[in-house]
Amino acid sequence: MNQKASSNQNSKDLETFNVADDVDQVSCDGGSGPLGHPQVWYSFDGKTKVACHYCGRKFVKASHNS
Ligand SMILES: [Zn+2]
Repeated sequence: MNQKASSNQNSKDLETFNVADDVDQVSCDGGSGPLGHPQVWYSFDGKTKVACHYCGRKFVKASHNS
């Protein structure tokens, strides 16, 4: 598992999270801090990535992130 350091670019870059290829749903609560929000669930619903409508985090299926 490689964790790319992403702090060398714009601080406004949205975070991207890799998820296992067999995961159908992801939850997001924005984490702590100013981006925090109520926990919500997103379904991939056949797609390879979803973005959180609250904080803009992106969740990408691992096998499609190359
Ligand atoms: Zn979020």
